[in-house]
Amino acid sequence: MIKATEDLKNLISTPKKVVITTHRGPDGDAMGSSLGLYHLLIQLGHQVTVITPNDYAKFLHWMPANNNVLVYEGNEAKADVITAAADLIFLLDFSHISRIATYADSITMSSATKIMIDHHQDPDTKIADLIFSDTTACSTSQLVYEIIDAMEMTGLMNKEIAECLYVGIMTDTGSFKFASTTAKTHHIIAELISNGAENAKIHDLIYDNSSANRIKLLGYCLNEKLRLYTEHKAAIISLTAQELKQFNFKKGDTEGIVNFALGIEGIVFAVFVAEKDGMVKLSLRSKGDFKVNIIANKYFNGGGHMNASGGVSETTVDQTIIKLEEIIKEYKSELIN
Ligand code: 5GP
Ligand code: MN
Repeated sequence: MIKATEDLKNLISTPKKVVITTHRGPDGDAMGSSLGLYHLLIQLGHQVTVITPNDYAKFLHWMPANNNVLVYEGNEAKADVITAAADLIFLLDFSHISRIATYADSITMSSATKIMIDHHQDPDTKIADLIFSDTTACSTSQLVYEIIDAMEMTGLMNKEIAECLYVGIMTDTGSFKFASTTAKTHHIIAELISNGAENAKIHDLIYDNSSANRIKLLGYCLNEKLRLYTEHKAAIISLTAQELKQFNFKKGDTEGIVNFALGIEGIVFAVFVAEKDGMVKLSLRSKGDFKVNIIANKYFNGGGHMNASGGVSETTVDQTIIKLEEIIKEYKSELIN
């Protein structure tokens, strides 16, 4: 980390053309770390563009400098030109190039120096020249803070950086409740609040700002779509594209639904399945030692963290549920111990 910190400090010591990108389906940590780093680099005189593979939830659109984010999908030609001209490219909150989907080729072809900052397992070290990887970190946003600190640049911390990093840490720790939340996390959060992050306002903007349709969709999921496998300590919630349409689905509306299933007494493994953008996407969550990243990787071409992973199913929603039921049976001994 010390050597990498020095290298990064040198790389950003003179103004450059910089691209910051993050994973497809950007979440709070993806946008928080990207925009937080953006607000640091513009102060150093860099020309910075944040490019996301696709659009993201409305409840993240209030973040400072969100208007400067370029979404790759629909702006491919412009984004390709900016990427090809970049001197530095930051890869934030992902560790495999497949996570940036259609934007991957553009990044791979660019001759820019690439810097990965990430907390996912098994980083593909071939995709970057400089790697800051800490799989124990609660969030990439925390890592960005630690790197700013290690570069002795906390003097540049302002309200914008503080707000963005706060969003990332808050969302990736489930509001500071997951096991990945440490004393260090709380120290960093204290620093962010001291530097202008308004914690109550941010919490409200992210979590208490839902459309009525979103809340009704949640109610529908819990009342009508929850399958409980009590003997196996597992639960599944699923939605078809048709059902999403019925509730006028907008990006971000289903975020967090899986946690309600995991919140049921005795449940240690919960899956949310939804048919979106012509794909069947899965969100897998667990409590304790049951490793959902292994399931995501083995059966759903995905991955993630031990207790929070995602993937894709090549079949229909119904067939995915059948597959999941087989998996639940196969892993019974691990689930009930
Ligand atoms: P979510 O369920 O919120 O979409 O994703 C939870 C976590 O799973 C993410 O933070 C990410 O680490 C991982 N993840 C989600 N989707 C995918 C995927 O398609 N591939 C991989 N490798 N990881 C994913
Ligand atoms: Mn993250």
